[in-house]
Amino acid sequence: MAGSEAILVTGGAGYIGAHCCKALSEAGYVPVCVDDLSTGNRDFVKWGPLVVGNIADTALVRDTIRSHRIAAVMHFAAFSQVGESVADPQKYYSNNVGGTLSLLAAMREAGCDRLVFSSTGAVYGTAGRDPLPEQAAGSPVNPYGASKWMIEQILADFRRAYQLNSTCLRYFNASGAEKSASIGEFRDPETHLIPRAMMALQGHVQDFAIFGEDYDTPDGTAVRDYIHVDDLAAAHILAVEALLKGSIGGCFNLGTGSGFSVRAVVAAIEAAAGRKIPLVVKPRRAGDPPFLVANPSSARNALGFRPVSSDLATIVTSAWAWHQKAHPAR
Ligand code: UDP
Repeated sequence: MAGSEAILVTGGAGYIGAHCCKALSEAGYVPVCVDDLSTGNRDFVKWGPLVVGNIADTALVRDTIRSHRIAAVMHFAAFSQVGESVADPQKYYSNNVGGTLSLLAAMREAGCDRLVFSSTGAVYGTAGRDPLPEQAAGSPVNPYGASKWMIEQILADFRRAYQLNSTCLRYFNASGAEKSASIGEFRDPETHLIPRAMMALQGHVQDFAIFGEDYDTPDGTAVRDYIHVDDLAAAHILAVEALLKGSIGGCFNLGTGSGFSVRAVVAAIEAAAGRKIPLVVKPRRAGDPPFLVANPSSARNALGFRPVSSDLATIVTSAWAWHQKAHPAR
């Protein structure tokens, strides 16, 4: 039952973590955020207390779990840039995998045995055209995806050995911003398609490019499954409530099952903003698969997950409102 239970949210000052804190608060929970603010934004922590610290500090996390009587953990704290992970894998394995092991040790010491884990479509690696079912995972092509896949394996072992139950949510392309545009996507440097295109419109990015027009896709540009961050947040509430009711968890895709090309996304942004985006076409970006689309049926069947805000127009309109508020045009 939704009550005043406290949920620990690691990385709650980040884009997706902050949206989940808001959703937790609206569902009657108290989100207790642990974030070292290395990439997070202090202003995004509005729905509960903030403990500034790193998840590698096992004692800090253990004491936070005890003092707030944490019922479950949502774990977002991680580095998430694919290109950086290729250049500096130690940073990724150490922070993402090492940090998670520290978090799990803290949970076990404090007797907390429920975790929702922020995983990724990058656990699939290079995919074909068909929407991906969960069983297709296991061939990540970069250290970021590999670090998340390793954590999924660790969590499965911890469930078997210690009855620490967990749900891994594999996000496809998280996008959009919540309705009042008080939180949104904000990274430095920004590498993602929708925010970069919007920053180009605003004059903050001078070299916006479409990476590759020679893919074997309907218009030659790469196809992705874009999912609104509010729908992701709703899925986290469903997942944590299932764990609180005694589910042992599992791994689920969070996507819509529909793919949109880079050109289609650019056209939707231009329609929302009412003007053309200055752009050039560049060669393919290393490591980008042509298609990455989820089969979301397991999340629908097991969790009752149904995206309601993930049509492309809602995604880009909400993201555009946030960008205009967060960093007005030059
Ligand atoms: N993309 C692009 N220009 C950009 C950023 C991204 O053409 O400035 C393309 C990228 O090659 C991919 C798609 O947009 O095909 C989505 O990329 P994004 O980085 O947003 O998410 P990813 O799918 O890589 O997680």
